[in-house]
Amino acid sequence: MPSQPHITERGISRRDWLRRLAGLGALGGLAGLIAYGLNRPAEVIVLPYSGTQAERMPPPIISREEWGAFSVDISAPNERGVYEKTLNPAGWHVYSGDLRDSYQTLVIHHSAFYEASGIATLLEVQRLHREDRGWADVGYHYLVDRDGAIYEGRNLRVRGAHTQGRNTGSAGVCLLGDFRYKSPTPAQWAGLAAVSRWLIAELGLTHLAAHNQFNEGTLCPGATVLEQLPALVESLGVDYGIEGYVPTARVGRTCDCHSPL
Ligand SMILES: [Zn+2]
Repeated sequence: MPSQPHITERGISRRDWLRRLAGLGALGGLAGLIAYGLNRPAEVIVLPYSGTQAERMPPPIISREEWGAFSVDISAPNERGVYEKTLNPAGWHVYSGDLRDSYQTLVIHHSAFYEASGIATLLEVQRLHREDRGWADVGYHYLVDRDGAIYEGRNLRVRGAHTQGRNTGSAGVCLLGDFRYKSPTPAQWAGLAAVSRWLIAELGLTHLAAHNQFNEGTLCPGATVLEQLPALVESLGVDYGIEGYVPTARVGRTCDCHSPL
């Protein structure tokens, strides 16, 4: 009986052997890839951009022009701060040079308006700060409403007016609303996280603080925010508190420019 040309003595065709060998080769290749993945040096990993660069991409921000901000009044009587005339004799104060040399701490506030959202609230906060408190402009650098929208406040190159005696070197972000008893919405919290992450990366900030850590007499930013802030700070990779603050006298590269921006 003639042997069949493609059957071996074990009854397996040559084509099946070739398939099995190919399968073993594929397994070996997969094992090699896994071994390489486990052992390859870190520098082999190439990403489109580094995490830091990604974090420095600003989140969507509603500009002053878009929300219809009034212009600044640099001759405002209390811009220098009612309580800090000796620390801030120049009033309206423009940082010069690289802002990373001037800022250290991000300070979180609430507006204390119970229901606060949208452009009407922005205008009311600016009116309150300009007319009732006598400042040149809205005091905070950024504001976040209950829908998570982020608004541009005072120009980041100008010293804020939000933390008594500790404005120089502090960027101020305000959650619109009253958070003594009710919590920010998830969207608002996400907006705060986004603008904080960006400011920390952009300005090289080392610390995030609640307003009442600097000024103990205030309830700002409210008990519910204070409960949640430590977890946010941990996720942002900075330290919580005021220890990073550099007293005004030690902050370099500032100027007493009075030119409006
Ligand atoms: Zn505050």
